[in-house]
Amino acid sequence: MISKLDLNAIVTTIKECLPKERDIIGLHEPVFTGNEWAYIKDCLDTGWVSSVGKYVELFEKQLADYTGVKHAVAVMNGTAALHIALILVGVKPNDEVIVPDLTFVATANAVAYCSAIPHFADSSEKTLGLDPYKLEEYLNDIAEVRYGECFNKKTGRRIKAVVPMHTFGHPVDMDPLVELAQRFKLELVEDAAESLGSYYKGRHTGNWGKVSAVSFNGNKTITTGGGGAILTNDEEIGKLAKHLTTTAKLPHKWAFNHDMIGYNYRLPNINAALGCAQLEQLPLFLKNKRALAEKYRKAFSKINGVKFFTEPEFATSNYWLNVLILNKEYAHERDKLLELTYTHGIQTRPVWILMHKLPMYQTCPRMDVSMAESLEARIINIPSSPFLCR
Ligand SMILES: *Cc1c(COP(=O)(O)O)cnc(C)c1O
Repeated sequence: MISKLDLNAIVTTIKECLPKERDIIGLHEPVFTGNEWAYIKDCLDTGWVSSVGKYVELFEKQLADYTGVKHAVAVMNGTAALHIALILVGVKPNDEVIVPDLTFVATANAVAYCSAIPHFADSSEKTLGLDPYKLEEYLNDIAEVRYGECFNKKTGRRIKAVVPMHTFGHPVDMDPLVELAQRFKLELVEDAAESLGSYYKGRHTGNWGKVSAVSFNGNKTITTGGGGAILTNDEEIGKLAKHLTTTAKLPHKWAFNHDMIGYNYRLPNINAALGCAQLEQLPLFLKNKRALAEKYRKAFSKINGVKFFTEPEFATSNYWLNVLILNKEYAHERDKLLELTYTHGIQTRPVWILMHKLPMYQTCPRMDVSMAESLEARIINIPSSPFLCR
């Protein structure tokens, strides 16, 4: 039984799930139908637009409540949040940090900002994130724990942390990863940039790691224009996160006294105001996004050669970006399909180029990444904005 990949049928199926009245449909467009105007007007009217103001604290409080963590610190973007998260767990120059090979470049860059070395790991076909079982076999082979720290036997370097990333909002299988991190004495930092509103076994993503990072970039589930947050349940780390991201200035009426090399990574009040309004809408966005995903799932169950990716059974996903995965035998058709969707006004995207193929990371250590390579060739993101299905 040989079936050909019917590219036109795939495009028609995507179109069937989308509103008819629009000529061009973007991949993920923001929605500002709540209190965005009112809160931003408040910032302009009162003059509190910049580094101080009530919305920053409010946004941090609401984020902590929503994700169930004790401390949330708002910063200017998700990459900055990741950078500080790594510093906070003690990543030092020349350490190795395990990150997925299949991720957005920020995950690896944040490691490099610490003068540390990203060490690339393979993904699971079930979650599209780190494969904890394959990583376990690999660490058993190349790593050893000495004096309570993990070392790479091949490079001699310390492996300080592991950074799972919840790809397109689908949670990594955290239980075995948490266990593995404990056994190998690795700090767990979640790159939850894409997974606001996603839960693993009922607990919010970003609430599993010692420190986590989320993003509110323009294309994410909610946006502050640009923005991010550091999440943690550790009181000390939470305080230090705030201190480090606000130039490490000691509180004083007028003195400029700084006790560490801090960063000016804070989120302006005007962006936080946008964030507060967006957070109010998050439950509605999530409901609409799930409805769209369900529409896609049903429609694609009848199409040959391609699978609509659905959340693993242990997870509730935000369905940030919807995912089609071509069957292996059709990987070579990917670019033709991307081209065809664009001629129909539908914005689609392949997944990121694997980190180890980028010029600056080619010489970094990595395990066998055959699943990441297979997924890289076959993933296509399709329109996912929260207003497409309501
Ligand atoms: C969006 C994103 C980030 C952070 O991005 P910013 O644009 O800096 O907010 C980090 N990691 C991943 C996987 C992302 O998708």
